[in-house]
Amino acid sequence: MRVFTSVYILILAYIIAALVFWEMSLQRQSGRIFAQEVTTLRNQVDSTRLPNIYRHEMSMLKQKLDSRTRQYVAEGATFLIVILIGAAVVYGSFARRILVSKQQNNFMLAVTHELKSPIAAIKLNLQTLEKHKLDEDKRNKLIDRCIKESNRLNDLCNNLLFASQIEGRQYKPAMEPFSLSEMMEEVVEDFAGRYNRRFMEEVEGGCRSTGDAAMLRIAINNLIENAVKYTPENKPITISLKATDDATAEICIADEGPGIPENEKSRIFDKFYRIGNEESRKAKGTGLGLYLSNKIVAQHDGNISIRNNMPSGSVFVVELPLNAKA
Ligand code: ADP
Repeated sequence: MRVFTSVYILILAYIIAALVFWEMSLQRQSGRIFAQEVTTLRNQVDSTRLPNIYRHEMSMLKQKLDSRTRQYVAEGATFLIVILIGAAVVYGSFARRILVSKQQNNFMLAVTHELKSPIAAIKLNLQTLEKHKLDEDKRNKLIDRCIKESNRLNDLCNNLLFASQIEGRQYKPAMEPFSLSEMMEEVVEDFAGRYNRRFMEEVEGGCRSTGDAAMLRIAINNLIENAVKYTPENKPITISLKATDDATAEICIADEGPGIPENEKSRIFDKFYRIGNEESRKAKGTGLGLYLSNKIVAQHDGNISIRNNMPSGSVFVVELPLNAKA
Protein backbone atom coordinates (compact mmCIF):
# COMPACT_ATOMS: atom_id res chain seq x y z
CA MET A 1 0.00 0.00 0.00
CA ARG A 2 2.86 2.39 0.87
CA VAL A 3 4.55 1.78 -2.50
CA PHE A 4 1.24 2.33 -4.29
CA THR A 5 0.66 5.59 -2.37
CA SER A 6 4.16 6.90 -3.22
CA VAL A 7 3.84 6.00 -6.93
CA TYR A 8 0.32 7.44 -7.01
CA ILE A 9 1.46 10.73 -5.44
CA LEU A 10 4.38 10.94 -7.91
CA ILE A 11 2.08 10.39 -10.92
CA LEU A 12 -0.43 12.90 -9.56
CA ALA A 13 2.33 15.47 -8.93
CA TYR A 14 3.59 14.91 -12.52
CA ILE A 15 0.08 15.43 -13.96
CA ILE A 16 -0.42 18.62 -11.93
CA ALA A 17 3.07 19.91 -12.88
CA ALA A 18 2.29 19.18 -16.58
CA LEU A 19 -1.00 21.07 -16.23
CA VAL A 20 0.74 24.08 -14.65
CA PHE A 21 3.40 23.96 -17.39
CA TRP A 22 0.73 23.99 -20.14
CA GLU A 23 -1.11 26.80 -18.40
CA MET A 24 2.07 28.90 -18.30
CA SER A 25 2.85 28.06 -21.96
CA LEU A 26 -0.63 29.17 -22.98
CA GLN A 27 -0.27 32.42 -21.05
CA ARG A 28 3.10 33.06 -22.69
CA GLN A 29 1.64 32.32 -26.12
CA SER A 30 -1.23 34.68 -25.39
CA GLY A 31 1.33 37.38 -24.45
CA ARG A 32 3.15 36.80 -27.76
CA ILE A 33 -0.15 37.05 -29.71
CA PHE A 34 -0.85 40.34 -27.93
CA ALA A 35 2.62 41.72 -28.76
CA GLN A 36 2.14 40.71 -32.42
CA GLU A 37 -1.29 42.32 -32.57
CA VAL A 38 0.13 45.56 -31.06
CA THR A 39 2.91 45.63 -33.71
CA THR A 40 0.32 45.11 -36.48
CA LEU A 41 -1.85 47.88 -35.00
CA ARG A 42 1.14 50.26 -34.88
CA ASN A 43 1.87 49.51 -38.56
CA GLN A 44 -1.74 50.03 -39.57
CA VAL A 45 -2.78 53.01 -37.43
CA ASP A 46 -0.59 56.03 -36.79
CA SER A 47 -1.08 56.87 -33.12
CA THR A 48 -0.11 60.55 -33.57
CA ARG A 49 -2.48 61.16 -36.49
CA LEU A 50 -5.39 59.01 -35.30
CA PRO A 51 -4.94 58.86 -31.48
CA ASN A 52 -8.60 58.05 -30.70
CA ILE A 53 -8.81 55.10 -33.09
CA TYR A 54 -5.42 53.87 -31.89
CA ARG A 55 -6.48 54.03 -28.21
CA HIS A 56 -9.79 52.30 -28.99
CA GLU A 57 -8.09 49.43 -30.92
CA MET A 58 -5.44 49.14 -28.22
CA SER A 59 -8.06 48.82 -25.48
CA MET A 60 -9.87 46.15 -27.58
CA LEU A 61 -6.60 44.18 -27.82
CA LYS A 62 -6.08 44.46 -24.04
CA GLN A 63 -9.66 43.24 -23.43
CA LYS A 64 -9.00 40.25 -25.70
CA LEU A 65 -5.78 39.53 -23.77
CA ASP A 66 -7.63 39.72 -20.42
CA SER A 67 -10.44 37.49 -21.63
CA ARG A 68 -7.92 34.88 -22.91
CA THR A 69 -6.13 34.99 -19.53
CA ARG A 70 -9.45 34.50 -17.66
CA GLN A 71 -10.44 31.64 -19.99
CA TYR A 72 -7.11 29.81 -19.52
CA VAL A 73 -7.18 30.24 -15.73
CA ALA A 74 -10.81 29.03 -15.49
CA GLU A 75 -10.18 26.03 -17.75
CA GLY A 76 -6.95 25.17 -15.90
CA ALA A 77 -8.72 25.40 -12.52
CA THR A 78 -11.60 23.20 -13.79
CA PHE A 79 -9.15 20.57 -15.05
CA LEU A 80 -7.27 20.70 -11.76
CA ILE A 81 -10.47 20.21 -9.72
CA VAL A 82 -11.61 17.34 -11.98
CA ILE A 83 -8.19 15.68 -11.71
CA LEU A 84 -8.12 16.06 -7.90
CA ILE A 85 -11.68 14.70 -7.46
CA GLY A 86 -10.93 11.79 -9.83
CA ALA A 87 -7.67 11.07 -8.02
CA ALA A 88 -9.41 11.07 -4.63
CA VAL A 89 -12.16 8.71 -5.89
CA VAL A 90 -9.64 6.31 -7.49
CA TYR A 91 -7.42 6.36 -4.41
CA GLY A 92 -10.38 5.81 -2.03
CA SER A 93 -11.75 2.87 -4.00
CA PHE A 94 -8.30 1.31 -4.38
CA ALA A 95 -7.58 1.69 -0.65
CA ARG A 96 -10.97 0.09 0.14
CA ARG A 97 -10.25 -2.82 -2.20
CA ILE A 98 -6.86 -3.40 -0.59
CA LEU A 99 -8.43 -3.31 2.88
CA VAL A 100 -11.22 -5.71 1.87
CA SER A 101 -8.80 -8.11 0.21
CA LYS A 102 -6.57 -8.00 3.32
CA GLN A 103 -9.59 -8.70 5.54
CA GLN A 104 -10.73 -11.50 3.21
CA ASN A 105 -7.27 -12.99 3.40
CA ASN A 106 -7.36 -12.89 7.21
CA PHE A 107 -10.88 -14.31 7.06
CA MET A 108 -9.79 -17.25 4.88
CA LEU A 109 -6.92 -18.00 7.30
CA ALA A 110 -9.28 -17.75 10.26
CA VAL A 111 -11.97 -19.92 8.61
CA THR A 112 -9.45 -22.57 7.61
CA HIS A 113 -8.17 -22.63 11.18
CA GLU A 114 -11.66 -22.60 12.69
CA LEU A 115 -12.73 -25.49 10.47
CA LYS A 116 -9.61 -27.54 10.90
CA SER A 117 -9.23 -27.35 14.67
CA PRO A 118 -12.65 -28.85 15.65
CA ILE A 119 -12.26 -31.53 12.95
CA ALA A 120 -8.82 -32.44 14.31
CA ALA A 121 -10.17 -32.52 17.89
CA ILE A 122 -13.16 -34.71 16.93
CA LYS A 123 -10.88 -37.08 14.99
CA LEU A 124 -8.46 -37.39 17.89
CA ASN A 125 -11.23 -38.07 20.42
CA LEU A 126 -12.85 -40.70 18.17
CA GLN A 127 -9.47 -42.39 17.57
CA THR A 128 -8.89 -42.51 21.34
CA LEU A 129 -12.34 -44.06 21.82
CA GLU A 130 -11.62 -46.61 19.10
CA LYS A 131 -8.16 -47.64 20.30
CA HIS A 132 -8.56 -47.71 24.07
CA LYS A 133 -11.01 -49.42 26.36
CA LEU A 134 -11.95 -46.53 28.60
CA ASP A 135 -14.14 -46.43 31.65
CA GLU A 136 -17.62 -44.91 31.38
CA ASP A 137 -16.60 -41.56 32.82
CA LYS A 138 -13.68 -40.97 30.40
CA ARG A 139 -15.78 -42.17 27.43
CA ASN A 140 -18.51 -39.68 28.31
CA LYS A 141 -15.97 -36.88 28.60
CA LEU A 142 -14.56 -37.62 25.14
CA ILE A 143 -18.04 -37.89 23.61
CA ASP A 144 -18.98 -34.63 25.29
CA ARG A 145 -15.93 -32.92 23.77
CA CYS A 146 -16.87 -34.28 20.33
CA ILE A 147 -20.38 -32.87 20.69
CA LYS A 148 -19.01 -29.47 21.75
CA GLU A 149 -16.61 -29.36 18.81
CA SER A 150 -19.35 -30.37 16.36
CA ASN A 151 -21.53 -27.59 17.81
CA ARG A 152 -18.70 -25.16 17.08
CA LEU A 153 -18.48 -26.47 13.52
CA ASN A 154 -22.22 -26.21 13.17
CA ASP A 155 -22.24 -22.57 14.37
CA LEU A 156 -19.45 -21.67 11.98
CA CYS A 157 -21.17 -23.36 9.02
CA ASN A 158 -24.43 -21.58 9.88
CA ASN A 159 -22.63 -18.24 9.94
CA LEU A 160 -20.84 -18.90 6.64
CA LEU A 161 -23.99 -20.10 4.93
CA PHE A 162 -26.02 -17.23 6.21
CA ALA A 163 -23.37 -14.65 5.28
CA SER A 164 -23.46 -15.85 1.68
CA GLN A 165 -27.27 -15.75 1.66
CA ILE A 166 -27.30 -12.20 2.98
CA GLU A 167 -24.69 -11.15 0.42
CA GLY A 168 -26.74 -12.70 -2.39
CA ARG A 169 -29.86 -10.99 -0.96
CA GLN A 170 -31.57 -14.39 -0.90
CA TYR A 171 -32.52 -14.14 2.74
CA LYS A 172 -35.95 -12.89 3.68
CA PRO A 173 -36.91 -13.50 7.32
CA ALA A 174 -39.93 -15.73 7.85
CA MET A 175 -42.33 -13.50 9.74
CA GLU A 176 -43.99 -15.76 12.27
CA PRO A 177 -45.05 -14.98 15.83
CA PHE A 178 -42.95 -16.68 18.49
CA SER A 179 -42.18 -16.46 22.17
CA LEU A 180 -39.06 -14.39 22.74
CA SER A 181 -39.08 -15.31 26.42
CA GLU A 182 -39.06 -19.06 25.63
CA MET A 183 -36.35 -18.60 23.03
CA MET A 184 -34.12 -16.73 25.48
CA GLU A 185 -34.66 -19.34 28.19
CA GLU A 186 -33.67 -22.10 25.75
CA VAL A 187 -30.60 -20.15 24.62
CA VAL A 188 -29.37 -19.63 28.20
CA GLU A 189 -30.01 -23.30 29.03
CA ASP A 190 -28.10 -24.37 25.93
CA PHE A 191 -25.08 -22.19 26.84
CA ALA A 192 -25.14 -23.28 30.46
CA GLY A 193 -24.98 -26.89 29.21
CA ARG A 194 -22.22 -26.19 26.72
CA TYR A 195 -19.89 -24.15 28.91
CA ASN A 196 -18.73 -24.74 32.40
CA ARG A 197 -19.14 -21.16 33.60
CA ARG A 198 -21.56 -18.84 35.36
CA PHE A 199 -24.51 -17.52 33.33
CA MET A 200 -26.92 -15.24 35.18
CA GLU A 201 -30.39 -15.17 33.70
CA GLU A 202 -33.01 -12.44 34.11
CA VAL A 203 -35.64 -13.32 31.53
CA GLU A 204 -39.05 -11.69 31.77
CA GLY A 205 -41.87 -14.06 30.81
CA GLY A 206 -44.59 -13.51 28.22
CA CYS A 207 -42.62 -11.46 25.67
CA ARG A 208 -43.66 -12.31 22.12
CA SER A 209 -42.30 -11.04 18.84
CA THR A 210 -42.69 -11.72 15.11
CA GLY A 211 -39.90 -12.93 12.86
CA ASP A 212 -37.54 -15.74 12.05
CA ALA A 213 -36.88 -17.28 15.47
CA ALA A 214 -34.08 -19.55 14.17
CA MET A 215 -32.21 -16.58 12.68
CA LEU A 216 -32.69 -14.41 15.75
CA ARG A 217 -31.32 -17.27 17.77
CA ILE A 218 -28.17 -17.28 15.62
CA ALA A 219 -27.85 -13.52 16.21
CA ILE A 220 -28.18 -13.87 20.00
CA ASN A 221 -25.92 -16.96 20.02
CA ASN A 222 -23.16 -14.97 18.30
CA LEU A 223 -23.36 -12.25 20.97
CA ILE A 224 -23.26 -14.74 23.85
CA GLU A 225 -20.50 -16.72 22.11
CA ASN A 226 -18.44 -13.49 22.02
CA ALA A 227 -19.14 -12.77 25.69
CA VAL A 228 -17.86 -16.28 26.49
CA LYS A 229 -14.85 -15.92 24.20
CA TYR A 230 -13.68 -12.50 25.37
CA THR A 231 -14.41 -12.82 29.12
CA PRO A 232 -12.15 -14.56 31.68
CA GLU A 233 -13.62 -17.89 32.81
CA ASN A 234 -14.13 -16.84 36.43
CA LYS A 235 -16.34 -13.85 35.48
CA PRO A 236 -20.10 -14.21 35.08
CA ILE A 237 -22.12 -13.40 31.96
CA THR A 238 -25.54 -11.87 32.49
CA ILE A 239 -28.27 -12.45 29.94
CA SER A 240 -31.52 -10.57 30.34
CA LEU A 241 -34.77 -9.90 28.52
CA LYS A 242 -37.33 -7.30 29.46
CA ALA A 243 -40.07 -5.28 27.83
CA THR A 244 -39.04 -1.62 28.00
CA ASP A 245 -42.48 -0.52 26.83
CA ASP A 246 -45.52 -2.08 25.14
CA ALA A 247 -43.77 -2.21 21.78
CA THR A 248 -40.09 -2.91 22.53
CA ALA A 249 -38.16 -5.78 24.03
CA GLU A 250 -34.61 -5.30 25.24
CA ILE A 251 -32.15 -8.19 25.34
CA CYS A 252 -28.89 -7.46 27.18
CA ILE A 253 -25.75 -9.59 27.14
CA ALA A 254 -23.38 -8.21 29.74
CA ASP A 255 -19.83 -9.44 30.22
CA GLU A 256 -16.88 -8.43 32.37
CA GLY A 257 -14.25 -8.83 29.68
CA PRO A 258 -11.88 -6.16 28.32
CA GLY A 259 -14.73 -4.00 26.93
CA ILE A 260 -14.74 -2.30 23.55
CA PRO A 261 -12.90 0.99 22.95
CA GLU A 262 -15.15 3.88 21.87
CA ASN A 263 -13.52 4.20 18.43
CA GLU A 264 -14.08 0.49 17.68
CA LYS A 265 -17.76 0.37 18.65
CA SER A 266 -19.15 1.04 15.18
CA ARG A 267 -16.39 -0.76 13.29
CA ILE A 268 -16.81 -4.17 14.93
CA PHE A 269 -20.09 -4.63 13.02
CA ASP A 270 -18.21 -4.46 9.70
CA LYS A 271 -17.73 -7.71 7.82
CA PHE A 272 -14.49 -9.56 8.76
CA TYR A 273 -13.53 -6.78 11.20
CA ARG A 274 -11.64 -7.87 14.33
CA ILE A 275 -10.05 -5.58 16.91
CA GLY A 276 -6.25 -5.50 16.97
CA ASN A 277 -3.91 -7.25 14.59
CA GLU A 278 -3.50 -10.96 13.87
CA GLU A 279 -0.56 -11.34 16.28
CA SER A 280 -2.21 -9.60 19.23
CA ARG A 281 -5.47 -11.60 18.93
CA LYS A 282 -5.56 -14.60 21.16
CA ALA A 283 -9.23 -15.54 20.67
CA LYS A 284 -10.18 -17.44 17.54
CA GLY A 285 -12.73 -15.90 15.23
CA THR A 286 -13.66 -14.83 11.73
CA GLY A 287 -15.04 -11.31 12.17
CA LEU A 288 -18.40 -12.49 10.82
CA GLY A 289 -20.43 -12.92 14.03
CA LEU A 290 -21.38 -9.32 14.78
CA TYR A 291 -21.81 -8.48 11.11
CA LEU A 292 -24.43 -11.23 10.84
CA SER A 293 -26.10 -10.47 14.17
CA ASN A 294 -26.47 -6.84 13.15
CA LYS A 295 -27.94 -7.75 9.75
CA ILE A 296 -30.41 -10.25 11.24
CA VAL A 297 -31.59 -7.83 13.92
CA ALA A 298 -31.89 -4.98 11.37
CA GLN A 299 -34.01 -7.27 9.12
CA HIS A 300 -36.38 -7.58 12.09
CA ASP A 301 -36.61 -3.78 12.47
CA GLY A 302 -34.43 -4.00 15.56
CA ASN A 303 -31.15 -2.48 16.60
CA ILE A 304 -27.94 -3.51 18.39
CA SER A 305 -26.00 -1.04 20.50
CA ILE A 306 -23.05 -1.34 22.88
CA ARG A 307 -22.82 0.12 26.37
CA ASN A 308 -19.89 -0.02 28.75
CA ASN A 309 -20.31 -2.42 31.64
CA MET A 310 -19.23 -1.40 35.14
CA PRO A 311 -16.51 -1.79 36.39
CA SER A 312 -15.33 -3.46 33.15
CA GLY A 313 -16.65 -5.19 30.06
CA SER A 314 -19.40 -4.48 27.61
CA VAL A 315 -23.15 -4.82 27.33
CA PHE A 316 -24.60 -5.68 23.93
CA VAL A 317 -28.17 -4.39 23.84
CA VAL A 318 -30.58 -5.81 21.25
CA GLU A 319 -33.85 -3.99 20.80
CA LEU A 320 -36.62 -5.84 19.01
CA PRO A 321 -40.24 -4.98 18.29
CA LEU A 322 -42.62 -6.65 20.68
CA ASN A 323 -45.97 -8.08 19.60
CA ALA A 324 -47.91 -8.18 22.76
CA LYS A 325 -47.45 -9.48 26.24
CA ALA A 326 -49.33 -12.66 27.04
P1 ADP B 1 -15.00 -12.69 15.91
O1 ADP B 1 -15.40 -12.83 17.35
O2 ADP B 1 -15.18 -13.94 15.12
O3 ADP B 1 -13.64 -12.08 15.75
P2 ADP B 1 -17.19 -10.80 15.69
O4 ADP B 1 -17.78 -10.13 14.49
O5 ADP B 1 -18.12 -11.61 16.52
O6 ADP B 1 -15.97 -11.65 15.17
O7 ADP B 1 -16.57 -9.67 16.61
C1 ADP B 1 -15.73 -8.69 16.03
C2 ADP B 1 -14.71 -8.21 17.04
O8 ADP B 1 -15.35 -7.48 18.09
C3 ADP B 1 -13.97 -9.33 17.75
O9 ADP B 1 -12.84 -9.75 17.00
C4 ADP B 1 -13.58 -8.70 19.07
O10 ADP B 1 -12.37 -8.00 18.91
C5 ADP B 1 -14.69 -7.68 19.33
N1 ADP B 1 -15.69 -8.16 20.30
C6 ADP B 1 -16.90 -8.70 20.03
N2 ADP B 1 -17.57 -9.00 21.14
C7 ADP B 1 -16.77 -8.63 22.17
C8 ADP B 1 -16.92 -8.68 23.61
N3 ADP B 1 -18.00 -9.16 24.19
N4 ADP B 1 -15.88 -8.18 24.34
C9 ADP B 1 -14.78 -7.68 23.76
N5 ADP B 1 -14.58 -7.61 22.42
C10 ADP B 1 -15.57 -8.08 21.63
